[in-house]
Amino acid sequence: PADKEILGRATWTFLHTMAAYYPDKPSPMEQSTMKSLLTSFSQFYPCGHCAEHLREEMKVDPPKVESRRDLSWWMCGMHNKVNEMLGKDKFDCNKVDERWRDGPSD
Ligand code: FAD
Repeated sequence: PADKEILGRATWTFLHTMAAYYPDKPSPMEQSTMKSLLTSFSQFYPCGHCAEHLREEMKVDPPKVESRRDLSWWMCGMHNKVNEMLGKDKFDCNKVDERWRDGPSD
């Protein structure tokens, strides 16, 4: 695609927000649907080498879908691996809810 950066920002916004609003206690069906969503996502993400890298990372560290908190942390970890690879700062995963769900407290 023409702009990997814009696609990346928009996609992370979607992925982190989805994780932030995932159920605290997902049903077995919700858990398996989320797993297949992420698997499908890593197959079709329209940046070929990004998708390939994501699939490799997901083999080593499979999605944690047992709760909202687990999924949010897992997603943060995935994003940090990409940040690291690109030489960007690591994000403090304690702040995922503030960033993607609640907004800043002040
Ligand atoms: P982004 O990294 O897009 O982040 C957007 C916002 O998310 C940040 O401003 C920050 O507020 C917040 N944030 C940052 N880190 C975290 C975190 N760990 N947890 C929660 N929130 C966070 N680009 C490449 O060049 N090569 C690749 O291989 C590559 N792989 C990618 C794989 C995936 C699955 C995705 C979605 C994107 C990938 N990208 C890749 C794009 C890249 O990650 C960035 O989106 C892009 O470089 C724009 O970066 P940015 O600095 O604007 O912020």
